[in-house]
Amino acid sequence: MSVMVDIRSVHKSFGPLDVLKGIDLQVRTGEVTVVLGPSGSGKSTLLRTINHLEKVDRGAISVDGALIGYRRSGDKLHELPEREVLKQRIRIGFVFQNFNLFPHLTVLENVIEAPVAALKRPRDQAVATARRLLERVGLADKADAYPRQLSGGQQQRVAIARALALEPKLLLFDEPTSALDPELVGEVLDVIKDLAHQGTTMIVVTHEIGFAREVADTVVFMDDGRIVEQGPPAEVLDRPRHERTRTFLSKVL
Ligand code: ADP
Ligand code: MG
Repeated sequence: MSVMVDIRSVHKSFGPLDVLKGIDLQVRTGEVTVVLGPSGSGKSTLLRTINHLEKVDRGAISVDGALIGYRRSGDKLHELPEREVLKQRIRIGFVFQNFNLFPHLTVLENVIEAPVAALKRPRDQAVATARRLLERVGLADKADAYPRQLSGGQQQRVAIARALALEPKLLLFDEPTSALDPELVGEVLDVIKDLAHQGTTMIVVTHEIGFAREVADTVVFMDDGRIVEQGPPAEVLDRPRHERTRTFLSKVL
């Protein structure tokens, strides 16, 4: 199977704080990688470097064979112009903990905004796609509602539909259910599971161990800016080799 995401020795600091201390990770096309780890271990920063919301200090990230943010010539790296970076970024969906919907736009307008503005899709085509996607996340009847009229779980499902509208090669989820009331977590996880079963390549940062067990091809445990261990869920979750993984799992299980 081909490699969709290839992360090589990525380092990232904020001032004196070393947040990513040499990350190596490969995600194969069609696979789901779940990233676990304590707060502050660098999970969000890692996701953000993948679509160039953060620049790496050292190392390199490729998505679908293209170096993110740079062009290689010989052994030199040249920064891509912003326009090129935006083109790369648009094919990498990002779903945030806090939904980040536009409050002044309806659900339908939220979903068609980027396809129309950034991909220059004709509006009626974008609307048709958006309606199909809203159907897929179970919100066909909410097209004309505003985000504030929806529950958190519904808002997050709109955010997922919005990400899908850009036909991403890769979807990144950063704790997509952490801001939700417990009774709303399941409906969002079900949508993500459905995408996983349809072969969407994704990296999901979450503390939902049951989800990881059911959906992940690979579970990655991060601590203090490093990948401590990674492997199939049955190994990392049921037979962790490292004390730090065991300690973490004993707290979240
Ligand atoms: P996690 O998602 O695993 O909780 P983060 O990647 O958000 O961890 O953060 C890792 C560390 O980097 C934390 O100590 C955090 O405070 C710090 N950090 C993250 N983003 C920034 C930033 N833009 N500026 C300074 N420090 C940051
Ligand atoms: Mg985080």
